[in-house]
Amino acid sequence: MKEKLEQIQKEGLAKIETTKTVEELQEVRKELLGKKSALSEVLKMMGELNPAERKEVGMQTTEMKTEFANKLDQKEEALMEAKSVLDEPIDLTLPGTKVGKGTLHPITQMCYDLNDAFLSLGFEVFSEDDISSEKFAFDNLNFAEDHPARQMMDTYWIEGTENKKANERLCLRPHLTGASVRYLLKHGAPARFVYPGRVYRNEDVDSGHERAFFQYEALIVDKNISFSSGMVMIQTILEKVFGRKINVRMREGFFPFVEPGYEIDMECLVCGGKGCKVCKHNGWIEVMPGGVIHPNVLKSAGLDPEEWTGFYINIGLERLVMMRYGVDDIRLFHSADLRFLDQFK
Ligand SMILES: [Zn+2]
Repeated sequence: MKEKLEQIQKEGLAKIETTKTVEELQEVRKELLGKKSALSEVLKMMGELNPAERKEVGMQTTEMKTEFANKLDQKEEALMEAKSVLDEPIDLTLPGTKVGKGTLHPITQMCYDLNDAFLSLGFEVFSEDDISSEKFAFDNLNFAEDHPARQMMDTYWIEGTENKKANERLCLRPHLTGASVRYLLKHGAPARFVYPGRVYRNEDVDSGHERAFFQYEALIVDKNISFSSGMVMIQTILEKVFGRKINVRMREGFFPFVEPGYEIDMECLVCGGKGCKVCKHNGWIEVMPGGVIHPNVLKSAGLDPEEWTGFYINIGLERLVMMRYGVDDIRLFHSADLRFLDQFK
């Protein structure tokens, strides 16, 4: 009996091993574990054995069944993995799977709306690479040598590009402002242009901050740009985007590339200025910093600060979209969660 069992085990395992297809394996499974299997035949003969032998054979057959089942499962998994979709015959006459019509991401939509608004005011749309250099991201923009934004904690530096002398240390752009000097160096003044894009900062992610987010920056450079023309530009743009008059206020703000600089707030549209969760109960939302271009930045752009002046605004696109739809968590925009995105169809 013992030899017989060993024989069944040897043959069974060899059969599993040499099986080539999933279908074939199903047959082998039946053969090894089914009612007519060699093991079942052995169990039928148990009555002829003495109690001690019966116990031992019983244990052996149970162990073998488990071993066969495990090996069969392993083999099936291996065969399934190896099976390529190309092995399946393809019926080209079958109707295709219906795919729903997509829509623009709300941030892209906002960017296009702003482009329309600025183009109608005579601005040009300019775009730059996501990779910038220390020279364009900081030096040209009047950032001090020891400004914290230059450090590793904020900016993603690209390793192996340190050539301090030529200011060639490359980075993922931490803001868009570098593009302003690049544009002015190429096109000169007067100029009015916008440059939307994604920027990168090594920040802790929370409901109001992301490591990569979208900005939209605009700059006018001319001979007689006043603070009030900057204010008119902001109000016009917000009105075009939101379709109605928006109350705006300016507070003092400090950014190296502007003098004076401002924080520009708009009235919270979710609560109409009364105070709600989105505006943290103060009725105003900070949407953009801005200000008068710093003389040192004009010099970097090859312009005479005595002759030229200009006004920047830098819009956080996510912030504006959050305002437009009353969304209270910035992370939703990059989550690729269709339940969220479908709402903007
Ligand atoms: Zn509010």
